[in-house]
Amino acid sequence: MEQQVDVVVVGSGAGALLTAVRAADEGLKVLVVEKAALVGGTSATSGGGIWIPDNHDMPRAGLRDSVETAFRYVKACARGLSSDERILAYVESARHMARYLADIGVPYRCVPRYADYYPGVPGALPGGRTMDPLDFNARRLGAQGLQQMRPTNPGQLIFGRMHINAFEAQSMLAREFKSRFTLLGIMARYFLDYPWRWQTRRDRRLTGGQALVGGLLAALRQRDIPLWLESPLQSLLLEDGQVAGVTVQREGRLQRVRAARAVVLAAGGFERNQAMREQYLPKPTDQAWTATPPGGNTGDAIRAGATAGAALHLMSHTWGAPTLEVPKEDRFRAVFVERSLPGCMVVNRLGRRFVNESCPYPEFQQAMFASHERGEGAVPAWIVFDADFRARYPIGPLMPASAVPDAKLRRSWLGTVYWKDDTLQGLARQIGVDPQGLVASAQRMGEFARSGVDPDFGRGANVFDRYYGDAHVKPNPNLAPIAKAPFYAMKLHPGDIGTKGGLLTDHDARVLDAGGRPIEGLYCIGNNAASVMGPSYPGAGSTLGPAMTFGFRAVARIVGKP
Ligand code: FAD
Repeated sequence: MEQQVDVVVVGSGAGALLTAVRAADEGLKVLVVEKAALVGGTSATSGGGIWIPDNHDMPRAGLRDSVETAFRYVKACARGLSSDERILAYVESARHMARYLADIGVPYRCVPRYADYYPGVPGALPGGRTMDPLDFNARRLGAQGLQQMRPTNPGQLIFGRMHINAFEAQSMLAREFKSRFTLLGIMARYFLDYPWRWQTRRDRRLTGGQALVGGLLAALRQRDIPLWLESPLQSLLLEDGQVAGVTVQREGRLQRVRAARAVVLAAGGFERNQAMREQYLPKPTDQAWTATPPGGNTGDAIRAGATAGAALHLMSHTWGAPTLEVPKEDRFRAVFVERSLPGCMVVNRLGRRFVNESCPYPEFQQAMFASHERGEGAVPAWIVFDADFRARYPIGPLMPASAVPDAKLRRSWLGTVYWKDDTLQGLARQIGVDPQGLVASAQRMGEFARSGVDPDFGRGANVFDRYYGDAHVKPNPNLAPIAKAPFYAMKLHPGDIGTKGGLLTDHDARVLDAGGRPIEGLYCIGNNAASVMGPSYPGAGSTLGPAMTFGFRAVARIVGKP
């Protein structure tokens, strides 16, 4: 039987769910269709941060911003690859979307010291635009509701079980005194949560992307919005040149769903599609390197949109990030912050540094490709650190040795997750890096640590770098010698946390054809659409913020309130 609704939303990431809830609040009949058996996509496994200029929480933290400053900043970052109209729409509406999120039960607070990623670009701020979700109590979903949501990835959990929010993580990395009690508190709360523990191993206190998607899912359920799981989009229904609905595969057959007002595509990027990666992305490329859930985002809706006549844009770009592999985990882990801590460096096959290790993750990934193209062998690259670093800081799946010494690590990780040797030369030989080059780089790092200045790559010279430094380390919180044996290395790949090219859209998320005309009835948001940020990543939360904001704007357009 054919279904009839006002709006079909394809996908169930944060942008999709926000759009569905907003559309229902505007009185529309909505259906969400999701390919996977679980709700939430990559969004549920993310940090949940959103980049919201001039947001409502900044005054509380004594911070000021303006739409004009934010516009100037994003326009400079986007380097002509996103229209002024779209950028303006984003910086104007994001704060309204964030208020709406709070209204529907998903409150956020700003992170006062989380700097924009390009502090040297006019309009950048030293903090406040990135917002993090408040913790969410999964009791509002019930243990069964929680089981419907995609769990987060191991990289976001403590001891593989407990959630941790961004403020707690930062405090632990910075080795603040209070962080010892924070960790004890997290563990006690988890293990003493008896009634919940009997129902599920999953933590009831949701943080990051779990809090975001958990809150949105609760809002969806409150409104009785139907959600079809295991129902992948197959094609768009086209009638008289406009999109009139979708066909989805459901319970073994093709099902038509007519959408009287709009189809909103929110089915993610194409990072899990090897053929599309080879067609569009810089080489070498491997779908295994992405940190997003396996299987889900294979570009289905990008191809469906293109078949309906949509223009594609930014297809060679990813939300790049170095990633590392941990055996038995179903996806690679993104290495967002550890490389910024003092006492480590990243080298290519020549044993030479080729990048400011503390730089934003997309630039780091691009630097890996650039070094590799120069013939220096940076795919993979190696993060090298010494015993002091290992004792103090977590990296990938390794907790600091002060908490979990090498003897307590899984044996199988030696030679797969980390490599170890008593000398730098020995380590270099184990990992296939030039020993002399590695020793020389470490010596140079020792000099930089003493002077506090990295003349080669400027590590620690700006407020963004320092955010993930160690304030106890002087004179530069990002620089320390790599001198104390044993020495360690871990392998880094030029991975990503999603692709950022997709269907070209306008300021209200309407999909445009090659002539720049909107395709009637078709909207697109999130990584399904070409990013409003162009090739850049202006600040933490630059993917989820726009995904939800353009969903918010799409609904306004659909109901005629642009
Ligand atoms: P998704 O959230 O992946 O949702 C797409 C959904 O569409 C999936 O559920 C998928 O199964 C479904 N789908 C695919 N094909 C079909 C089909 N044919 N039919 C129906 N459904 C389909 N970004 C931030 O802004 N802030 C952060 O703090 C942040 N932290 C991150 C941390 C990690 C570890 C990772 C991996 C990513 C992080 N990101 C962050 C990136 C962010 O999570 C993604 O960019 C974002 O979730 C993409 O949202 P989306 O809605 O486009 O895709």
